[in-house]
Amino acid sequence: MRRNLAYIWIALIALLALAAPGCAGPDGGAAAPAAEATGASAGASGGSADLQYSLEGKQEYETPEEQEEEIRDAMEAMGNELLADVRVARALMDSLDDDGDRMVEKAYDLKLQADIFALLEDPRFGYAEWGSLSDDERTQNLTAFYSEVDAALSTSAVGLVFADEAENIAGYYNASSHILTLNTKHLSEQGLFHTVIHEMRHAYQSDAVANPTGFAVSAETISWWAQPFIDPTEENYDAYFTQPREWDARNFAKSDIEIFSVPPPYTGSWDMPA
Ligand SMILES: [Zn+2]
Repeated sequence: MRRNLAYIWIALIALLALAAPGCAGPDGGAAAPAAEATGASAGASGGSADLQYSLEGKQEYETPEEQEEEIRDAMEAMGNELLADVRVARALMDSLDDDGDRMVEKAYDLKLQADIFALLEDPRFGYAEWGSLSDDERTQNLTAFYSEVDAALSTSAVGLVFADEAENIAGYYNASSHILTLNTKHLSEQGLFHTVIHEMRHAYQSDAVANPTGFAVSAETISWWAQPFIDPTEENYDAYFTQPREWDARNFAKSDIEIFSVPPPYTGSWDMPA
């Protein structure tokens, strides 16, 4: 059964009002700066106009294509606000069926990925001049980068440590201790930035499985991410690389997957390679 689009707008506008500066509660906002109060007011009136439009418009979708178009329109109208607050994205997802969920999830994933990769351009982290930095500078920069990635993904990670590990290990995230470990053997390699992104995406996956309603992740993706993780061995690289959690983390971190003879059972937000 198709949901009424009006419910989407009601949920979104209610959330936008909650999220707007100066509108935290009945007593809140008295001391809010005038500029912020004006901004919140402008946002609310824009939302009201959209709600009016929806209520007078179509109440049900005739075809899946029609639903997709309506969702795209809704997402476009919400713009940055939809993707800036996970509660807004979540409210939209809760108003949609599984196909709609996947559309919002993908938009949100691409936004998270773009935010994180933009950090690599920030001279604070020294990505471009990595070869000329000392190991102390590298650990400091990677720690600062980890904090920013963690903030972007809102994970339950509690810290980053550096340890001397086997050569073939770049790093790993422990979902029990919530600690990210990076291998000091690879400190000279820029690839550690991608390791941070990859491993923090694993943290995001674990957190989403533990608390599905707190993330802009579809129910279908949650069910795939909840499957037991297959550790890599020489005999099962295909199964390791193509399991949904690994496939997702590698695509999120824009890492090449060189071994690919078995199609992944589920690609999440990431399209299959040609
Ligand atoms: Zn991985």
